[in-house]
Order: sequence, then C-alpha cells, then structure tokens
Amino acid sequence: MIRKARPIVSVASGTCGHPYFPERGNEGYWVEHYDLALEYRVVANRLRASATISAFAAGALSWFALDLAGLRATAVLVDGLPARFTQHGDKLRVTPARTLQEGTLFVVEIRYGGNPRPVPSHWGGLGWEQLSDGVIVASQPTGAPSWFPCNDRPGDKSTFRISVTTASAYEVVANGRLAGKRRAASTTTWVYEQAEPMATYLASVQIGRYQTAEVSGPVPQRLFFPSRLASRVRLDFGRQQQMLALFTERFGPYPFAAYTVVVADDDLEIPVEAQGMSIFGRNHVDGRRGEERLVAHELAHQWFGNSLTLESWREIWLHEGFASYAEWLWSEASGGETADALAARWHRKLSRLPQDFVLADPGARRLFDDRVYKRGALTVHALRRALGDEAFFPMLREWTTTYQHGAVTTDRFTRLADRYATTPLDPLFTSWLHTERLPAEHR
Ligand SMILES: [Zn+2]
Repeated sequence: MIRKARPIVSVASGTCGHPYFPERGNEGYWVEHYDLALEYRVVANRLRASATISAFAAGALSWFALDLAGLRATAVLVDGLPARFTQHGDKLRVTPARTLQEGTLFVVEIRYGGNPRPVPSHWGGLGWEQLSDGVIVASQPTGAPSWFPCNDRPGDKSTFRISVTTASAYEVVANGRLAGKRRAASTTTWVYEQAEPMATYLASVQIGRYQTAEVSGPVPQRLFFPSRLASRVRLDFGRQQQMLALFTERFGPYPFAAYTVVVADDDLEIPVEAQGMSIFGRNHVDGRRGEERLVAHELAHQWFGNSLTLESWREIWLHEGFASYAEWLWSEASGGETADALAARWHRKLSRLPQDFVLADPGARRLFDDRVYKRGALTVHALRRALGDEAFFPMLREWTTTYQHGAVTTDRFTRLADRYATTPLDPLFTSWLHTERLPAEHR
C-alpha cells in the first residue's frame, strides 16, 4: 500500500512530470496536508481565506512556488516567520526567512482573498464558479488554484481540512467527513475532514439551497438536491447501493467512508467527479433513470481517478477508460446490453472516426474526448477477453489494493496485468495503447 504519492520530481533535472500543463505544479517539495479556512459571501462572490499547508522539502529550498490564480495573497508565514512573497501570473513565489533544509517538514500559512473566478482553459472555466444561487467547484484538470494556493500536480496527494463560513441559508458540502457545524448570528461554519490523500483537482466545495437525504447501507450515501427534484433524484440515484455492491465485488472495497451526490440547480455539461462526491446538473435528472450510465460512471471514479490517481494527465485512460467500462459492467449486471454487445457497437463507431492519437498519450486537448473514453473502455474489454474473468477481476482488485490512495501510471498497470497473463500482453498493449490505428475488436 502506498500511503503517499511521491511526485515524479527531479529537483536536479527540473522535470516536473506535468507535460500537458507545464505551468502547473511546483518542484522541490510535496504537500502533506492542506488546512483551508474560507469565509465566503455568496451574492458578492467575496472570499477571505487562509491556507495552512504542511509540506516536505525534497531538496534545500531558498524559495518555492505555489499555484494561485486570480486571488491576492496578503500575508505569508513560513514556520511562523514572515516570508517575502511575489505573485506573477498564476504563481505565488515565497522566499522564507531561512533556507529550508532537505528532508524537513515545513508549514506555510497564507492569507489570501478576492473574487474567485474560474481559470480559463481549452474546456472553458475551471474551478470555483458561481451558480445561479450558490457555488460549484469543478477543477479537473487545472482549476484548483482558483480557490486555494496549492501544488497543483495530480500525483501530489494530501489530506485536507476544509472549513467554510457562509450565510446559514445555504448547505455547504466539501470532501470527507463533516467534523463540525457551528452556527453564529447569521452565518454557519462547516468543517470537513478528508483523511485519505486527495489530489488538488478533486478538492471541492458545493454551496446551495439544498434539501438533503441519507441512504444507509454498507457505504453511507448522502444526497443534496433542490427540493422540487426530490422524487426524481430518489428514483434516478435509487440503484447506487446495487452499483456499489457490484463494483465492490469487481473492483474491491469502496475506498472512502461515504459517498455524496450533489444535484446542482443549474444545467451542467457533464457531471463532475470529486473525492467521495459527484456533482450532477439538474439536466441529468429526469425521473426515469435516463442518465443512469453517468451515475455508474461517476461512482466508478471513486476507485479509478480518486483512490488511484494518475501521476501525469497524459494517462487519463487510467481514469476514463475504467469508469467508462464500469458503465458497461453495470449495464450487463442490471439487465441491459452486455459488455460484449456494447464493445462491438462502440468498436464499429470508433472505426468510422479519426484515429489520430495514441491512447497512452492522447494530447492535452483530447483529455475529455469521448474517443479516449471509449477506446479506453475497449482496451479494458480486450484485456478482460485476453485474461478471462477468472484472472481479469482478481487483477483489477490487486490494482486497486496495491495503489489505493496512491498515484498510478500506465507502466505500473501493464506490469501488474502481465503477471496474470499466460501469454505475453505486449502485442495487446502496443496496439491498444501506443498505436493510433484502432485494433481489431478483442485483440
Ligand atoms: Zn469520467
């Protein structure tokens, strides 16, 4: 079991393992814990906050940088001493009073604030965003610095404590366990603790006028939704307990203490994954389970993406291929089309579309291209066919156990899968992962 993802940083070589977003992530340290205290006024979109970050120096540091976008730092302390700091672009550069020694833990306290706004990207704004009456955070892949200073690299996973103070009319949801809720005159402070290491892009705060419902079971579930959608939500998310049972059997134990679904009172293009949580738009809820494949997909991300997190964004198939394949497993188990039939259908569709990327490195702009998702699912299916169910599912469970709450790479996956094979898997992985042309089905 890997407790902490060691970032693939080489201080000497200056490579940071972030080829798709070289401007994101910082070298020389990794973060152990973020303690964020936010005071937020919803209508004014005004944030006043402090971040207390415990980090480990990978080398001697006379200065270091954090990612922070669109918000101003007003004071920085390192190990209790005032530090010099400057902000350029999305970087906060901190010069501590004393050089930090290699191998030491240090604590940075940053006071900051402003009007948070989404970080522009190829996919539109990412991160902290105002809703009609509340807030959504959807940071994948580079939106986290829109609301807190961080080392925005997916492999640098840390524990979190997130405290939010806002008007009492709103429900506030963040990752992890609700550790406290205190009401003052007109505001309420919500404190959440995320004990399992979490990537910065999966950190999330949702604020809205939500009704709540709890569903008990082996994994407790919470639902937050606009009250007028109550009956639709109960029906559309009503089979999550069965999905959890299926995925636990196929993928291994659910990796977190609970699962939360938030249905925002706005339309969302696609649902959003966060650690221990998924966020859907009201347009994903029709009261007829019309989008149930997305319900299964988002739930599967708790294993593939949130517990096992890619070290580099180029390996997005390790998230989306498996979450998309989970849709097929759910379809098969719930009386819908079989995985075989779905694979055949999607193979036909993909064979008519451009085959101009390799799955193991599709390029930053194709991170959320549906062809990446479906070719990823087809790759998983081809591997299942090659290994047979009696080897494939034990292999998947070893994968999720070995790297639970850690960071993963394609190379680690293919090496593990190889141990379950009776014939070499190199030809399969070469054709599916490293060749542009779509291989024949099941090869
Ligand atoms: Zn997904």
